[in-house]
Amino acid sequence: SGRWAKAEAILRELEEKCGTPTAKLRQVADAMTVEMHAGLASEGGSKLKMLISYVDNLPTGDEKGLFYALDLGGTNFRVMRVQLGGKDGIMKQEFEEVSIPPHLMVGSSHELFDFIAAALAKFVDTEGEDFHLLPGRQRELGFTFSFPVRQLSLASGTLIKWTKGFLIEDAVGQDVVGELTKAMERLGLDMRVAALVNDTVGTLAGGRYNNPDVIAAVILGTGTNAAYVERAHAIPKWQGLLPKSGEMVINMEWGNFRSSHLPLTEYDQILDAESLNPGEQIFEKIISGMYLGEIVRRVLCRMAEEASFFGDTIPPKLKIPFILRTPDMSAMHHDTSPDLKVVGSKLKDILEVPNSSLKMRKIIVEICDIVATRGARLSAAGILGILKKLGRDTVKEGEKQRSVIALDGGLFEHYTKFRKCMESTLKELLGDVAEDIVVEHSNDGSGIGAALLAASHSQYL
Ligand code: ADP
Ligand code: MG
Repeated sequence: SGRWAKAEAILRELEEKCGTPTAKLRQVADAMTVEMHAGLASEGGSKLKMLISYVDNLPTGDEKGLFYALDLGGTNFRVMRVQLGGKDGIMKQEFEEVSIPPHLMVGSSHELFDFIAAALAKFVDTEGEDFHLLPGRQRELGFTFSFPVRQLSLASGTLIKWTKGFLIEDAVGQDVVGELTKAMERLGLDMRVAALVNDTVGTLAGGRYNNPDVIAAVILGTGTNAAYVERAHAIPKWQGLLPKSGEMVINMEWGNFRSSHLPLTEYDQILDAESLNPGEQIFEKIISGMYLGEIVRRVLCRMAEEASFFGDTIPPKLKIPFILRTPDMSAMHHDTSPDLKVVGSKLKDILEVPNSSLKMRKIIVEICDIVATRGARLSAAGILGILKKLGRDTVKEGEKQRSVIALDGGLFEHYTKFRKCMESTLKELLGDVAEDIVVEHSNDGSGIGAALLAASHSQYL
């Protein structure tokens, strides 16, 4: 019937607009490399902020003692403590995950940091016998804060802007370590923030601790971002002394990348216009976990309106932004049952569509596939951009260099088809070099990494 023909037409148009042929991915990777150069050349020189992390030494494995870490960056935040045993490695670690009440994500700085400090204080109270703080010492913390920060030193930095659904205006421009420290003082919690790190930088540090070949880290979670080790002399905007190591970790803030080569659709444009941060984080908005399910919802909305996809009426729930979450999308996408019963039950539970035909369900799986494939292939192109910047995208005569990229984040971890597609695309793009480039899952690397950096920058060294 005409209804299916129209739905089919919308689907084919989506597929065409989301297309990421290899040649296009190479253009995206090249554009990424160009923007990396521009962002390193001067402050404000690019959409890519290429933020200096002040991390000029990565963990060596000698780190010792009890350290805490706090990871704030999405809907959950985590507190952890780790007993580092030097050459003996990690002796013990414990963590707790606390979800952030949504009203605090758009409230005041004071309230958010009070909430965080209170959760941290509660966690410190449960510290057991197998953790050892040397007598007379203050506890020290690595603070993983996954929003763009202009670092003033390793342990201080001002918030540039919020992303990923956070919007707390009075915190913008403030030193987030100062804010956290004041909240801890209000509570009487005696703890020093020894390092402030982006989650990508933490993941890089945690990855390097386990594997000396780690040169970059990528987060695919609620948002997306990357960090990598740059040669200090290749950072023209760096005014300070060159670090002894000759290296500096750069937090790219690649979520804000944009390029005329990115395949954008009308759905992306409207999603962006209606978002908390219009015009910003365009790469993030087509790749990351916060948005993929929402893009699918928007396609379904159009199908409902223009092709009566769900019948004569539009399911009211379908109109609610962000109601279709990426984990639900992923569950539908991975449905292998012959009648696609997972898709059927998601439609019923989330959109209150009680009866769905197999034909409808198949179209929905296809939408998920198109949207996830675009995101996964573009993330691979981003990684190629980094490898190109480092000259690690080609085989060097007589030289065998292995490059490991530490990957973390819920999207990478749980969305298997996304992950497989990203990995196979990277191989496709790399050709012969693919065997020297390894993608490694760095589980919870960002928290451990922050604790390790706190250890190597302890006031007691
Ligand atoms: P954050 O990025 O907020 O620090 P995570 O790295 O844990 O936290 O990523 C959480 C995100 O991962 C969620 O917002 C969601 O988008 C995505 N995610 C979690 N579970 C799944 C899943 N099963 N399938 C697809 N995406 C998932
Ligand atoms: Mg995170």
